[in-house]
Amino acid sequence: MPTQIGDKWFEHKRIDDDITLIWEPYVDPLLRCNIWLVRGSDRDALIDSGLGVISLKKAVDELFEKDVTAVATHYHLDHVGSLCDFDDRVIHSLEADLLSKNGMGGGLLMSDYSDAMIESLKASGYPLPDELITALPYKGYDPATYTTPTTTATRTVDEGDMVDIGNRRFEVLHLPGHSPGSIGLWEKDSGIFFSGDAIYDGPLLDGLEDSSIPDYVRTMKRLRELPVRVVHAGHDQSFGRERLIELVDTYLKLRA
Ligand SMILES: [Zn+2]
Repeated sequence: MPTQIGDKWFEHKRIDDDITLIWEPYVDPLLRCNIWLVRGSDRDALIDSGLGVISLKKAVDELFEKDVTAVATHYHLDHVGSLCDFDDRVIHSLEADLLSKNGMGGGLLMSDYSDAMIESLKASGYPLPDELITALPYKGYDPATYTTPTTTATRTVDEGDMVDIGNRRFEVLHLPGHSPGSIGLWEKDSGIFFSGDAIYDGPLLDGLEDSSIPDYVRTMKRLRELPVRVVHAGHDQSFGRERLIELVDTYLKLRA
């Protein structure tokens, strides 16, 4: 069990004038989600929110100057943990009910997960340490007690809906495969695409309980045609169109 205290549970870095990346440095890469804060003229958008080990809003309160529209790209624990911190909570209609459950039935210890889940994660190529955090958020914290903070959606979205923060508007793309209601946010004017776990530059997970390989294949074919300039993904580093095509083609070769 880790004994070190992680004094700054969330790290953050400005990507450009409007976009800030927030992450949980003491969380294993498997569950270390990219949390994206996008500044808008009317309000800010938060795309995914981490595990909710501690409150995101309280921990980095200085980042939240405006009202926030918090979007979950899908219901998995590493993406929705601090959704409850915000008044405006958006998720795809297929996954709204899942916000009231403990996402994926797992937690911070590998022993929290089902054998089937562990098999699937192993097959994807993730190393699987016994503990998924390398430090504690505060003295006395017991990782065995972690549960994902549950919440409700204040708005559900479907394909083609818009997330509007004033000077920036993001189109919701429904991208099932990893999960049934996975979404991405597409800003056509800038070519910026927030992809959630539909695509990222790491081992993709299509063998989870409610994943669908046929859906994932369709999603990948669709993404291949998207004229992206930059992809800010749910995990790992950001990338451009060339890398997107490589990732898609690698996946399709494996599964199609
Ligand atoms: Zn996920």
